[in-house]
Amino acid sequence: MTGDLPGFFAPWLASALVLVLSALLPARRVTGYVRDERSGQLLEYRMNGPLVFVVTIGLWLLAGYSGVMPWDWLWTHRWSGTAGALALGIVVSAAVVMTAPSRGGSLLKELYLGRYANPRMFGGRVDAKMVLYVFGATYLELNLLSFAAHHFLSFREDPSPGVVLYVALFTWFVCDYLVFERVHLYTYDLFAERIGFKLVWGCLFFYPYFYGVGLWAAADLPNPHAPVWLLVLATLVFFAGWSLARGANMQKFHFKLNPERTFLGRFRPEAISDGERRLLCSGFWRVSRHVNYLGEILMATGLALSLGQPALVAPWLYPLYYVLLLVPRERDDDRRCGAKYGPLWDEYRRRVPWRIVPRVY
Ligand code: NDP
Repeated sequence: MTGDLPGFFAPWLASALVLVLSALLPARRVTGYVRDERSGQLLEYRMNGPLVFVVTIGLWLLAGYSGVMPWDWLWTHRWSGTAGALALGIVVSAAVVMTAPSRGGSLLKELYLGRYANPRMFGGRVDAKMVLYVFGATYLELNLLSFAAHHFLSFREDPSPGVVLYVALFTWFVCDYLVFERVHLYTYDLFAERIGFKLVWGCLFFYPYFYGVGLWAAADLPNPHAPVWLLVLATLVFFAGWSLARGANMQKFHFKLNPERTFLGRFRPEAISDGERRLLCSGFWRVSRHVNYLGEILMATGLALSLGQPALVAPWLYPLYYVLLLVPRERDDDRRCGAKYGPLWDEYRRRVPWRIVPRVY
């Protein structure tokens, strides 16, 4: 690994590629949910995440088929790639924060949480947050494919079906995010977070290198011959979680666009209102105040199980991470909503007393 410059700079090159593709490829224009801090106008977005993803994966496939880059190249260079992504995350975070005017308060806090809310690049063609998420999703997929390739090359005679299932479910997760990228415009990251180390380093390093932690451990191990029921259970848990997360996010998205519209032709939107603002109080949003977080944790649990080696510790770090991320985030969002909606939020809390897991928490 020592002196492995190609491995170190691979994430740098890939992020530059994603940035250029985001700026150049055709995109649909949509109006977002977040308002520009200065003008108060709703921000406009050029959205082409799925296309950027397909082109990047296509280039990787081309490099693999033509022999330019071995299929398991990212696995072979995974440690230098990790170091490169870590360094890239630090350099870009520092650059983004230090070139923005201070908002007051401690520099350390600003470095972590950021200064700019929603910076744009190339004359507004590329939204910095959205392109960071597209990079994280795309590079995670590249890592997963390359790590799985290593497994198949190492255990040609008897590869693990759990590795196939893990990559298939994670590919679903990544594609789901990209297909519904517009819905992401209505989420906490976009309206409540600023762009500092937490978000930049999170997308450039943590997302592509940590999320697949299960495969870091399992790609080098032989087929555990997991029972079929375990793989079926993993798939069921994953899709139960996906239904909760996607369902809740879509219901809220449609409600924000059109509060009268029936969701999925079935869920009539019941809302409580203070005459000015409304909060959805039916369907997924009746079950708990953040049932989408429960969905996300279940998806992560399904992924950990899908490798068919529940005694391995590493795959469980992923669901653990979600618990550590989403429990404090729910508290923070609760405070934010309490301040924004006042007595209306108190009423919602009375009607829907559970934070994340109904009848438990
Ligand atoms: P939510 O989508 O739950 O958004 C919370 C916001 O929704 C609130 O601040 C409020 O915003 C609005 N809101 C809350 N309750 C209601 C209601 N009853 N009716 C109408 N509006 C309501 O949370 P996040 O944005 O944190 O998460 C979005 C998705 O992203 C989730 O599925 C989450 O699990 C996922 N996620 C995924 C991560 C990953 O790494 N894969 C990381 C983090 C999140 P407003 O003031 O605008 O009304």
